Amino acid sequence: MPVNVVIINPYELGRQPFGIAHPAAWLRADGHQVACIDLAQGRLDDAPIADAQLIAIQLAMHTATRIAAEALPKLRALAPNAHVCVYGLYGPVNEAWLKARGITTVLGGEFEEELRALAGRIAAEKDSKSKTDSLVSAPHQAGKRVEFRVPDRTDLAPLERHSRLRLADGTEKTMGFVDATRGCKHVCRHCPVVPVYQGRFRAVPVDIVLADIDQQVAAGAQHISFGDPDFFNGPTHAERILRAMHERHPHLTFDAVIKIEHLLAEKSRLPLLKETGCEFIISAVESVDDTILEHLAKGHTREDFVATVALMREHGVGLTPTFLAFTPWTTLEGYLDLLGMLVTLNLIDNVPAIQLAIRLLIPSGSYLLKLEGFNDLIEPFNPDALGYPWTHRDPRVDGLQQAVMRAAERADTEGQTRFEAFGDIWQLAHDALNLEAPVLLRQMDVTPSQHTENWYCCAEPTTAQIEAL
Ligand code: SF4
Repeated sequence: MPVNVVIINPYELGRQPFGIAHPAAWLRADGHQVACIDLAQGRLDDAPIADAQLIAIQLAMHTATRIAAEALPKLRALAPNAHVCVYGLYGPVNEAWLKARGITTVLGGEFEEELRALAGRIAAEKDSKSKTDSLVSAPHQAGKRVEFRVPDRTDLAPLERHSRLRLADGTEKTMGFVDATRGCKHVCRHCPVVPVYQGRFRAVPVDIVLADIDQQVAAGAQHISFGDPDFFNGPTHAERILRAMHERHPHLTFDAVIKIEHLLAEKSRLPLLKETGCEFIISAVESVDDTILEHLAKGHTREDFVATVALMREHGVGLTPTFLAFTPWTTLEGYLDLLGMLVTLNLIDNVPAIQLAIRLLIPSGSYLLKLEGFNDLIEPFNPDALGYPWTHRDPRVDGLQQAVMRAAERADTEGQTRFEAFGDIWQLAHDALNLEAPVLLRQMDVTPSQHTENWYCCAEPTTAQIEAL
């Protein structure tokens, strides 16, 4: 007998979530009644929660997990007898915390088969009084191979309501959101993908990816944003997708996330990116300090970053670097060096202000905990913060981080350009060192293409996000 399932995504960086559309396809194929709710687009009240026998919540990132924690009491009140399950990267690493909040089942990154089995068991037990036991997916189950299906996006908010692509001339394109892989073959120490996937990744079959692109183009997508942790984990897979996508939809543009190491190793594929419509590549540079890069095990150096900027310009492909600007090892001088490097490399307009404000978050299971001496820099795990708090040994660095975060938030609310916001941060960094800030000259005539929603995943939920529950 089918069960009523509500699948919830608390936050997905403004993207239309693959992570709820894909399990929806699995469960609907078994005849279950499935309602999807993306809390960035709607409220809990929009979903038939009171009728649900199973509620599945995707925890793909820190912000989403914090929002889910806020939503739980309301979910419990609306559906006291529903079986509540969570899945995704932040499930297994926070298992104890989630169970203390009454979550019955915690699934990992490759969760679809377990979710389907759980729905089947609830269906079978529907008429009996027995409750479905907990079923916990350990992180190593990321090694499983899930049979991918075409995501069912039918009841998600229209694409035009999600993050859009703003072009240099100010016009906007509707974006579609596609995942071509899950997990990552690298083990950067600070990365939340690593404790769950442990250096593995899974490719979504090319025909499934193309079918998902086709359905989103039919729904109005003019640009595809690939959401893979790293699009070049499987470069041949990526090339097949890009060639086929371009053949089917020659006017479609795209962006993707690719690490510096891969951009250099796969430089022979950069012309392909250009030919197939790449607007820009997002790359997690994190730092320009080689010691910090080594602590993070990022697999690239400061010089590699400089070389990549030159290479991308040579091939006419835009680069949006992202940073982890504040770590326990960051110094005021090092922060100013980062800003100075963005000036020297003409990258001011390529970097959203929030990327200059992000502070290292240390979730449970972080590989940084394996780094010798790291535990001396942090405090014990704080369940309410879902991480290990840390205070910088130099209070001026924490003060600067808070000031930069305020500047980044102001930039967002007041609609400042990246250049204007950078100017404010430039001044703050110089003030922190009692230095006179050199006058900045506008480096570009136009602002590069960008998403209308900035790309970061480790912030605390905003008041608006909580009020919208
Ligand atoms: S390459 Fe990116 S996704 Fe992969 S482990 Fe490193 S930070 Fe994480």
